[in-house]
Amino acid sequence: MAAPVHTHTSTELLAKYDIPSPRYTSYPTVPFWDEKPLTQERWLLHVQQAFTKTNASAGISVYVHLPFCEQLCTYCGCNKRITKNHAVEEPYMQALLQEWEQYLAVFEEKPRIAELHLGGGTPTFFSAENLKTLLQKLLEKVEITEDAAFSVEVHPNNTNAEQLQVLFDLGFRRLSVGIQDFDPCVQFVINRIQTFEQTKYIFDVAREIGYTSINGDIIYGLPLQTAYATQLRR
Ligand code: SF4
Repeated sequence: MAAPVHTHTSTELLAKYDIPSPRYTSYPTVPFWDEKPLTQERWLLHVQQAFTKTNASAGISVYVHLPFCEQLCTYCGCNKRITKNHAVEEPYMQALLQEWEQYLAVFEEKPRIAELHLGGGTPTFFSAENLKTLLQKLLEKVEITEDAAFSVEVHPNNTNAEQLQVLFDLGFRRLSVGIQDFDPCVQFVINRIQTFEQTKYIFDVAREIGYTSINGDIIYGLPLQTAYATQLRR
């Protein structure tokens, strides 16, 4: 079920992202920040309305949050849970699939997936086998649009070739690789030690497998970062 390559021109990309937006998506999402309590019924009704509006035309976008990380980066503002206990994968997958079934029950037609994004946390905290099981089940009862875009965020310290291959086979073509800073001193203070080689390895393997869009996340404004920091430490 490989998704074809999704290409944009620079102008299209600039137009797409030239909008004000929150740093992270909140739950409940901003339209629900009012006085009324957010009940399950109200949420599902909104999901159903949003679904009906776009499913038949553009298709829907699905974001799957995989919140586990093995180590805390000190700058992190994500909704995450730090653990080295991988036994958490299985029950979390069950909960996710249960939630997905709830949505399927309120959709009035077969979902058409135009975009699927895995974020976290560290999506590649999950084993290749679990990622495969989760996504196969999630995509079991859907259609995938012709130009669908599937993407995943990865942490080089928790990613291997097998995971990247499994995701590629399921249609993923875009990777977002967390780098933040290559400077070992900055990495030390943000508690995120990853070597240049580890990061390069992910880029090399992903290119070899056939990923067509590979992004590297860099953060500006971290402790010890100045224009001259690296030079001064020499
Ligand atoms: S890997 Fe990402 S989500 Fe996890 S602690 Fe670091 S910044 Fe936060």
